[in-house]
Amino acid sequence: MDKKSSVSSRHSASTLSDIATLRRQLDAIERFEKQNTHESSRLDEIRKQCDVLQKESIERLSSISQKQINAQEQLQFVLKRTKEINQMMKALQESESVDVCFLMDCTNSMQKFIIEVKDRIFETIRLLKSRFSHLNIRLAFVGYRDLNLPEERQFSILDFTDEDKFHSFVSMVKCEYGGDACEDVLGGLQKTVHLQWNQPVRILIHVADCPSHGRRYHDLPEHKDHYLSSDNDGAIGQELFDKFVQLDLKYFFGRLTSHTDKMMEQFIQFGQKRISIEEINLKNFQNLLPFIVESISRSISKTASSLLKSHSAVESNLQNTKTSRISRISFDSIEPDWLNIPMKKVQVIKYQCNDQLVCEQINESTNIKIAEKPFAEGAMRLAFYGLMQNKDKWEKVVLKKYKNIHNNIDMKEKYLELLDCQTIADHLAQEFNKLSLSTNESTSTIKKIKFIMTKLVFDPESEGNVHFFTIERFIDGSYKKFSNNAGYVNHEDPAVTLQAFSHWTYERTNGNMIVVDLQGIDIGDNQTYLLTDPCIHSTDLTRFGRTNLGKPGIKRFFETHVCNSICQTLKLKMIENQSVTKTSSKYDSNFIEKKSSIINKSISSKHS
Ligand SMILES: [Zn+2]
Repeated sequence: MDKKSSVSSRHSASTLSDIATLRRQLDAIERFEKQNTHESSRLDEIRKQCDVLQKESIERLSSISQKQINAQEQLQFVLKRTKEINQMMKALQESESVDVCFLMDCTNSMQKFIIEVKDRIFETIRLLKSRFSHLNIRLAFVGYRDLNLPEERQFSILDFTDEDKFHSFVSMVKCEYGGDACEDVLGGLQKTVHLQWNQPVRILIHVADCPSHGRRYHDLPEHKDHYLSSDNDGAIGQELFDKFVQLDLKYFFGRLTSHTDKMMEQFIQFGQKRISIEEINLKNFQNLLPFIVESISRSISKTASSLLKSHSAVESNLQNTKTSRISRISFDSIEPDWLNIPMKKVQVIKYQCNDQLVCEQINESTNIKIAEKPFAEGAMRLAFYGLMQNKDKWEKVVLKKYKNIHNNIDMKEKYLELLDCQTIADHLAQEFNKLSLSTNESTSTIKKIKFIMTKLVFDPESEGNVHFFTIERFIDGSYKKFSNNAGYVNHEDPAVTLQAFSHWTYERTNGNMIVVDLQGIDIGDNQTYLLTDPCIHSTDLTRFGRTNLGKPGIKRFFETHVCNSICQTLKLKMIENQSVTKTSSKYDSNFIEKKSSIINKSISSKHS
């Protein structure tokens, strides 16, 4: 090897080693880089996980805050409802504060009627208390005779007081000879105006067998009225009734003879439908007690129902709109010729409920026909005839929609609450019907209960702002109210099955709900009640809308509910503070037997 080549070989050896070193270094860099990429991809992964976690926790946080907001809103709603319900209960109790004035003809023939009032006044109050647990009653007496007597003998007057003082006063009232065939009725009416009326419900109970003086008040021969020219132009009578309107009196007249008929016609004209005047054919003094009890009960119930109506209508524009709008609505009471009505496809929502009383919504579509004009109106809704296709048949239906509503979304909620309520009531009724069958006792008095099922229809083409309707089967029959949602019971038809059903729903739901406000039709076979529009009082105030009066509503039911034979058969438990008065049932059956002879001249429907 020459020097050159030895150098070069030495050189190449060192280059080789250099390259090897370089390669190693390169490998190391490459490894490092690989590791680095791996690291960075791991970093990426971790970063991604972080992002996911962060997103999740943000979502969770916002869902928690949403839940908090919901819970807060719900709490506020419940608090608001509780306050409203308490105010409502107070108003209902006040509607049981009554002033009752007895205006009685105290001439000869009337003595037995006055004795009857005195003898039965305590019983009357006891009966009324069994129906109205918060009854606060004050009594007054105005007895009138005739103009032939000096003023102090012409009238017997006791201003409003309690039943004991009333009883002792009436015990002292004596009848006197009246002179002619007419009495100073206007004088008596005049005295009632000056009494200290101050309770929310004011009732005048007038019993007389003779008319007032004056040609315009009777058709008796001239010699039977010594003051024939009295109130010739009717100005005195008119002024009196204007004062009655101001006082907001409810006037009940117990009719004994036809001699008073012309006078009552005059009175009704003076009232001009501004006050409630009812004339009941009393016939004899034995009917006095039911007459008095029914007059007072009806007045209280009417006041309570109008309170309940305004309570459930408030806030949603649902107040009775019999104002300017009404003039624009035209009605057609006759069913239309369906061939001329176009068919339309609509969406239908119905509810289904399980044994836990949880409802689920079912959507379907169907074909319907709706009459152009409504055939009737209620306080809040208009009713239309309609047909609904069921497979290949057309069923007659009634469609109802709220009047004068601007907000469809709120309305949908309202309708769904209604569906929820009916579906649960019907589910409970089906369970109750099965129960009833398995009890052998008193099966004759137990009837079946059914609720007319309501569905919700959405018709985008419907006129005006409101596109929702409720739809239900058309049922012909005479409609009756058996109870309401404030403890009212129809004593003329107490419907024991329905009373027991309400009580049973309370036990079935462990005290969380009660189905009330039962109304509808006692159908053909007399074995079934077909009911509509029930209310449910529930401990959950967020359900069933504004007619749900919660625990106070449940309490009110039991304050007037007297357990009947069906409750006993079903072994339903009494609850604390439940009414145990038994006198009501005895009295009711007594009254019902005589009812036809008593109330055969009720003119209330024409004038209330
Ligand atoms: Zn009961």
